[in-house]
Amino acid sequence: MTPFDVAHHSKPTATGPTLIDGFGRTVRYLRVSVTDRCDLRCVYCMAEHMVFLPKAEVLTLEELDQIASTFVGLGVKKLRLTGGEPLVRKGFMGLVENLSRHLNSGALEELTLTTNGTRLAQFAKDLVRFGVKRINVSLDTLDPVLFKSLTRGGDLAQVMAGLDAADAAGLAIKINVVALKDTNEAEIPAMISWAHGRGYDLTLIETMPLGDTGEDRTSQFLSLAKVRETLSSFWTLTDIPLQTGGPARYVRIEETGGRLGLITPMSHTFCEACNRVRLTCTGVLHTCLGHEDEMDLRAVMRGPKGPAGLENAIRLAIAGKPEGHDFHISEGSAPTLARHMSRTGG
Ligand code: SAM
Ligand code: SF4
Repeated sequence: MTPFDVAHHSKPTATGPTLIDGFGRTVRYLRVSVTDRCDLRCVYCMAEHMVFLPKAEVLTLEELDQIASTFVGLGVKKLRLTGGEPLVRKGFMGLVENLSRHLNSGALEELTLTTNGTRLAQFAKDLVRFGVKRINVSLDTLDPVLFKSLTRGGDLAQVMAGLDAADAAGLAIKINVVALKDTNEAEIPAMISWAHGRGYDLTLIETMPLGDTGEDRTSQFLSLAKVRETLSSFWTLTDIPLQTGGPARYVRIEETGGRLGLITPMSHTFCEACNRVRLTCTGVLHTCLGHEDEMDLRAVMRGPKGPAGLENAIRLAIAGKPEGHDFHISEGSAPTLARHMSRTGG
């Protein structure tokens, strides 16, 4: 898609302009991948020997701020920084500090991040200082040996130290667990008990066919309908009508008193309430995780119009946000989408 002037798809409201797509959905949530790099190599996310992008292709911290701030000016209320691993990007805390001006002004309601937790011991305090209140930490197992193999070399103790630091700093935590057949499948109840015992929410995620990881997708896929059935055989799961505009459905587990989220992109559709878009670390805007539609905001920003061209390009992309996604996992098939989650941002 090339940007050109379009009729404005934004409605002025009492609180400022609003981005509304062609299906009447208001976009209020932007996820930004700040790097494609990571200190781990999770088997469902990356290939063992990933080739990372040349630096020139990745947005500078200033460009990331510029795009994110344009979205905030267009009514986005929630910003999630992700990656790759956001905390490995040099200068990342400076970006968080700069973006916190939108929290201070009241334009932004939430600034948050998704992290693998390995560097939280170093950064948790600063995150809180810059207005971050909640974070998502991805952790698929509490077994150090399995953690090492799932992440191809990671050290669980580092993540645990990170969680302790995040607790001490006062961050609210949600643990994200990718449910993997025959891998962490049996450990899921223990992980839920552990997380709820520490006062964390926990969300289970089905694997999505994003990018070639060198692993067989069909052997990894575990349906959360099946997990729910198993959990229901010994726990009482009560649906809670928490509508986040995101893909998670929530239940309360009466026995643990905690909340469990279930993200089931493969077995459910959640597109009708979708309020989010994603920016890759190269500046490509994806308005749907399950489609190849894209708008190259880096080209716009580095082009003749410069940052002044961003607003129209964003409006054009939002106007074309697809109605819904379409994933397939079939044996031996190529991933539905060639891009890796680490580039798109989970
Ligand atoms: N490195 C950070 C982390 O792991 O939290 C942030 C980026 S990571 C790409 C964001 C989320 O995407 C993680 O929770 C990860 O488990 C999830 N993820 C990565 N690849 C996935 C896949 N193929 N299917 C489902 N979830 C995936
Ligand atoms: Fe890194 Fe996160 Fe992908 Fe794991 S899921 S390889 S931690 S980006």
